[in-house]
Amino acid sequence: MWDRLQDLNSRQTDAVVSTEGRIRVVAGAGTGKTKALTYRYAYLVNVLGIDPANILCLTFTNKAAAEMRQRISAMVHSGDYNDFVCTIDGFCVKFLRREIYRLGFPKSFTIIDEDDQKGVARQCLESLGIKRSEKTVKNFLKEISDAKALNDYIPTYMLPDVAWDENMLRSHVGNYIHRQMKCYSLDFDDIENFTKFILDRYPDAREWWQGQLNYIMVDEAQDCNADNWEIIEKLAAGHKNLFIVGDPDQCIYEWRGARPQRFVQFSYNKEIVLDENYRSTPKILDVANSVISNNKNRIPKDLFTRQAGGRTVVHFHAKTEEEEYDWIVKQIKLLMASGATLSDFAVLYRSNYLSRGIEKALMNEHLTYTIWGGVRFFERREIKDAIAYLRLLSNEADDDAFLRIINVPSRRLGRSFIDTLKSISSSTGQPLMEALRENISLEALNRPGAVEFLKVMDECREFSRFASVSDTLKRVLDDSGYMRSVREDQDEETLENIDELMHSVRFYEESHNEFDVTLSDYLQDIALYTNQDYRKDNLSIKLMTIHQAKGLEFPYVFITGLSEGIFPNMRTIREYKKNGEEEERRLMYVAITRAEKVLFLTESEGFNVSTRMNKYPSRFLTEIKRHMFVTEGFVPEELWKGTRNLVHVLDEETFGRSPEALDGFAAERAGWDSPFQIGTVVTHDIFGEGTIMAANKEWTTFEVKFSDGSTRHLRASFLRLGDLP
Ligand code: ATP
Ligand code: MG
Repeated sequence: MWDRLQDLNSRQTDAVVSTEGRIRVVAGAGTGKTKALTYRYAYLVNVLGIDPANILCLTFTNKAAAEMRQRISAMVHSGDYNDFVCTIDGFCVKFLRREIYRLGFPKSFTIIDEDDQKGVARQCLESLGIKRSEKTVKNFLKEISDAKALNDYIPTYMLPDVAWDENMLRSHVGNYIHRQMKCYSLDFDDIENFTKFILDRYPDAREWWQGQLNYIMVDEAQDCNADNWEIIEKLAAGHKNLFIVGDPDQCIYEWRGARPQRFVQFSYNKEIVLDENYRSTPKILDVANSVISNNKNRIPKDLFTRQAGGRTVVHFHAKTEEEEYDWIVKQIKLLMASGATLSDFAVLYRSNYLSRGIEKALMNEHLTYTIWGGVRFFERREIKDAIAYLRLLSNEADDDAFLRIINVPSRRLGRSFIDTLKSISSSTGQPLMEALRENISLEALNRPGAVEFLKVMDECREFSRFASVSDTLKRVLDDSGYMRSVREDQDEETLENIDELMHSVRFYEESHNEFDVTLSDYLQDIALYTNQDYRKDNLSIKLMTIHQAKGLEFPYVFITGLSEGIFPNMRTIREYKKNGEEEERRLMYVAITRAEKVLFLTESEGFNVSTRMNKYPSRFLTEIKRHMFVTEGFVPEELWKGTRNLVHVLDEETFGRSPEALDGFAAERAGWDSPFQIGTVVTHDIFGEGTIMAANKEWTTFEVKFSDGSTRHLRASFLRLGDLP
């Protein structure tokens, strides 16, 4: 027998040596599913003598695939390549390299990302004469993606013998696809659709791959969507050796079409259940079990471990966000003083924009960090754009900033415009902005977009002399049309990031003296955060969203931003109702079960710009039995009350009992500056003390719940902040 089997328990061993047929492994987090899967791969290669070229091993993220490749290469003979240890999209790309000629594409096709797709969409809208007020880029792409989901677009448009006519070009999908075909580009939808189509349509291709892939293994199978299943089942139909592992409690991609029921209903020859957790201490597992047991829609199961003891889970409540992040840094330093290394730590958050605060706290202490699967805050496109506007206001000679934004949003200033300007500037030595101003009457430069740009920038510069940085930022983004174009794209994440930038500028002003802060002070200070050169090595603290953390483990885990509305994410609950709440809870379960030794849960008070609400501790904290964690920092009873209120309001809204509340939550960003926020305690001269439960769209009328239980809609001018004197 292979001696590495000693590393496994008997059930894992069973999974490893059950090589033939359809096998399903169901098990909770940290029970050694991925370990069994990687050992099975090595077993197939080392003991049965299967060529790695005949084993397909799929997992969910690129990170997980990289990790798996590493684990496997440590076990198989060197030189045995494992090219087919990849994500499903990764596999499809390899598949297409061999097969795509059937659709008239060369094997050197390119793959375009979301940003590129937006560019193509803009060209389509322009050539079809559709105004962005009629259809946003985002809606256009959604239409294309929906149309592609129907999947007859390939025979209709893409087969080599298709004869294009005017009507096809004028249809939205046709126009988009025509552009794609011109440059042989595939978007993310195409990758799987092409694969499915070729597998369906060309028996010789299907049979070749079916013959090739003797063994197929799928990790994290609970998160496969219908297309993934179709491809996997088709490939496995040849040798019929399909091994899938998963945990329905960790399904966190239903919002993107994951079909966990396909996992649950999978027909198998053999099932193996693992239940012993090897990753975490019992203290951490208790917390995980306590939270996930609140989901109604699940098969009850608890994780257990033979490990003893462990440190109690710590909840930290901070008065401010900054305090929250500083505390995390303090804990990291303390643990490092007693022997931990940087790479032992992971900081997890629900949404990307939350990385800014923690990044700043880590930089202040010169602690190296890496963001997995995401971009550092100040490197994000919209943040760089916004900062470029400020830089150009502060310094006209900043040509980099000028070039970045002169045509963002589009002012219809093309390559020849820029080239003319550059050549003037290089012959006169003037900065681009100045060259533009002085030569604006030249025919090549006198474009409406350029004239408007000059005017706006001049006005904003004048304004910035007497205004705060935050007001300047808001004004320049508004007047330049930047915000309008972001809103038209309806990209929530971009909006969140800009909100977060705005919030950070305000905080910067508050913590300095607002009137002392000049634009150039601010820019110089943040340049420290933007220009720092951090080595991207393994010796670093890992920052990532919980989605990215799937399948990974770390000795010390911080789950940050545990405020109601942020996590669970309010939008998810609103959009997907109870299913949304349960998916958020599974996400919490995934986050908790990443921790090996110590788990920290942190949250803070204050106002959240993304949810437009005051922050209250997350409902998930209230779902952990009180004796299972200790709290550092004082949480006033009012805050727990706020959590309860908010859960109640959200429930009412989500389940349709109170349309007024819905109005308030759907409020556009109108409540920005208002002292009245959801949860704020207010006083009315006649009705007494109450709490704001919701606001209208304009943020001028509030639904107030009074202490006697009654609820009224009242205008802002009749309310005072705070309780009775
Ligand atoms: P997740 O659900 O989070 O993906 P998983 O079920 O895939 O978790 P693994 O990542 O395979 O779990 O294993 C979790 C940890 O337990 C790893 O550190 C692994 O090395 C260890 N482990 C797994 N099986 C055993 C075993 N039989 N003996 C000792 N340690 C084990
Ligand atoms: Mg795993």
